[in-house]
Amino acid sequence: MQALRFHGAQDIRLDDVAEPQTQAGQVKIKVHWCGICGSDLHEYLAGPIMTPTPDAPHPLTGESMPLTMGHEFAGEIVEVGDGVEGLAIADLVAVEPLLFCGECELCRAGDYNLCPKFGAIGVVGGGGAFAEFITVPVHLVHPLPEGVTTEQAAVAEPVCVGWHAVGRSGLRDGGSALVIGAGPIGLATLIALKARGAGFVAVADRSTGARRDAALALGADLFVDASSESIGDAIRAATGGLGPDVVFEVAGAQAAFDDAVDAVRPKGRIVSLAVWEKDVRIDLNRLLLKEVEIVLSLAYANEYRVVLDAIADGRISNLDAMVTGRIPLGEVVEGGFETLIEHRDDHVKILVHP
Ligand SMILES: [Zn+2]
Ligand SMILES: [Zn+2]
Repeated sequence: MQALRFHGAQDIRLDDVAEPQTQAGQVKIKVHWCGICGSDLHEYLAGPIMTPTPDAPHPLTGESMPLTMGHEFAGEIVEVGDGVEGLAIADLVAVEPLLFCGECELCRAGDYNLCPKFGAIGVVGGGGAFAEFITVPVHLVHPLPEGVTTEQAAVAEPVCVGWHAVGRSGLRDGGSALVIGAGPIGLATLIALKARGAGFVAVADRSTGARRDAALALGADLFVDASSESIGDAIRAATGGLGPDVVFEVAGAQAAFDDAVDAVRPKGRIVSLAVWEKDVRIDLNRLLLKEVEIVLSLAYANEYRVVLDAIADGRISNLDAMVTGRIPLGEVVEGGFETLIEHRDDHVKILVHP
């Protein structure tokens, strides 16, 4: 079968690889849809960042590059391994693409996103979903609730990242929020905020176009064009002068963090869920004068089911608004990765159909 493999910076290839064999305790899935993630683009442009190299294989998978990419996916079970119960051929499923040891204190407490051996399928090994088939252990498999499509379930992965961040924010019902960065994770945070009872939610980005359209379609109460106006001034004017209760910093850039510090309300909270390429400078005195808390949020844990249920019962709707392209696997490099990099203003999320 064909699989998109990471060989190095600017070097991803559709290679012919063997179909994975279904082991005991696993199911084999025919991938219906797999989203291209911002972290995939980072890896492509500047990697290996998260991809293990031959001199340092991943501690859990023992694998190193070249590795198959793709972690935001859903599909259909085509084979069931020995000892698997409760799953059957033709079941539609989403896969929680997280790898963790399952034995350490953090894993046993349910905080498996913080496991020292943490990694993601499609990044550190374990196969990847930019391929026709993948085999995965059953504990990562979530059957889709009635009415949820595999396309929605592929987008559920980034929504889980936003869902976890909203949990970390401690936002009260009806509270106000600002999301800085309107890429897929920023929009996923907006979706989670609206589904979890936030009141006024603003989204800010320097890029308008498709990202502004998607933010407004997904229920943002205000879009701030950060290329032409001050985020802090715009959000204070819209929130009665003091600023939002919580600011989500999703961009991973110094300017965005400075905007978060400026915009957040006194006694408010900044949640950072970006991956940083460089160190960030934090003006603690400005935060001190407002008694602001900073919390960080990494991936998600125990939230996949919750998000799929929220899609099924309609608390999350209109996920389509995030999807700006659907392409076959054969077009993944040009029509997927290159398009997202070169036409950032026209795209949010591109789904690949292997
Ligand atoms: Zn992702
Ligand atoms: Zn662990």
